[in-house]
Amino acid sequence: MFHKNIKVDELTHKYYIDLPSVSALLKLLPQYKNDYKDCSVEFLKPYQERGNCFHKRVEFYINNNFDLNCNCEYSKELHNNLFNNFLFWYDDYFLNINKPQTEISLINNYFLGTFDFMYLDNDNNYHLLDWKTNKITNQIKTLTQLKLYEILIKDNLNINKNTKFIFECFNPNENRFITFTNKQEKQANKNVKYILNILKGEITNE
Ligand SMILES: [Zn+2]
Repeated sequence: MFHKNIKVDELTHKYYIDLPSVSALLKLLPQYKNDYKDCSVEFLKPYQERGNCFHKRVEFYINNNFDLNCNCEYSKELHNNLFNNFLFWYDDYFLNINKPQTEISLINNYFLGTFDFMYLDNDNNYHLLDWKTNKITNQIKTLTQLKLYEILIKDNLNINKNTKFIFECFNPNENRFITFTNKQEKQANKNVKYILNILKGEITNE
């Protein structure tokens, strides 16, 4: 594979790809630039642990139909509650879920990212979902994130350019399944356009 951003680390002789991730791209948007800026590493740790635990268990469950259990030191009860909320939700939708794909990492010429979950429904629409394990989520930010994954998916997987994508989010903390409004779609499209302009060097990011 040819990629202009493959770099070599002279010390370790390891190759890596020097491209921004989807999460890094979201920080290019002025309105989200300062999210978590004032939070210490120590403060964020339990939230990250909760998120990692949930993502790992869900990935394993979707791929193997079997639960890994929580091996975290703290907050086991909360972690188990989040996973149980997911199970109830997943069972409800299970018969409409075909070709599930989870935690797939993709790359194009401009950025890279790993989406949480994608499936084909019985009407042949693709659903692209994100899991949010914190109570408060900015829905337009989540939708922007999902639309960036859509670009990676269309650039990589053999999916017809006209295929309809339905964007959704499941929040096991609020036990809430989130869909998006047309107004939110418009705002997210603006965000994506802004990010792509920066990536393609058409404007500078001051
Ligand atoms: Zn856990």
